[in-house]
Amino acid sequence: MGSDPNATRGRVRTLKAVAKQKTSSRISREGLFECDASSHRFLDLHTVRSERQNALNEHVGQLLKCRRCPRMQSTPVSGGAIVSEVMLIGQAPGPREPVLLRPFAYTAGKTLFRWFEKSCGMNEATVRSQIYFAAVCRCFPGKNSSGSDRVPAPDEIRNCSSWMDEEIAILQPRLIIPVGRLAIMQFVNCEKLEKVIGRKFRIERAEPGFDVIPLPHPSGASPWHKISPGKELLQRALKIIACHAAIQALNEELNRKDKKLL
Ligand code: SF4
Repeated sequence: MGSDPNATRGRVRTLKAVAKQKTSSRISREGLFECDASSHRFLDLHTVRSERQNALNEHVGQLLKCRRCPRMQSTPVSGGAIVSEVMLIGQAPGPREPVLLRPFAYTAGKTLFRWFEKSCGMNEATVRSQIYFAAVCRCFPGKNSSGSDRVPAPDEIRNCSSWMDEEIAILQPRLIIPVGRLAIMQFVNCEKLEKVIGRKFRIERAEPGFDVIPLPHPSGASPWHKISPGKELLQRALKIIACHAAIQALNEELNRKDKKLL
């Protein structure tokens, strides 16, 4: 993996310029961006994808070396440099993820991947290979005095936010799925889960903007998603995710690849 932060920033700038062009373009069925008549320029999607892959490889390489927060109890956990139009944002890893070297590696992950399998027809391996996994904080915060996982402190959330901002700049996602209140709060107000789960929000924070569809945290610590109205709102949220154009595009691409293998 590359290690030059200036090169990463340069690639992010290039990709931001691409995103601006994208707003005045449409994607043709052949996989080309057809730009507006005034620019007469064409961008090959494969070139954009490989630029994104290079930028993301460098980004993840830098992220794994991050040691900004002295109170964190592990090194950063990453799901890998998956170029995708869909990002899933967790809260922070638990004690097992740094050992197993992937996010959502234990019981909460089992529930989360079951939700995706039932609603979108994507099993765990597919979700991990098609969706970029980020988090509010990438390191295990340790335990609090009551024995549960410590909620990251505001300074740690601030420290880690630049990693997510850069990922959004590189990937230009169409859909972001924040999982759990702390992750949801990075995008929309979340006084009550009832007010945000089962809804889609349009966020214009970064060009060309993205949709946010929040999910509750799948851990067994809170029964919210198992009892009414959380149970029904969760089903509604999963249905909105399954119908989202970015998820449908992922499934179409997977079907195309499956047919080629037959
Ligand atoms: S929590 Fe984020 S900012 Fe802090 S050390 Fe880990 S990766 Fe770096």
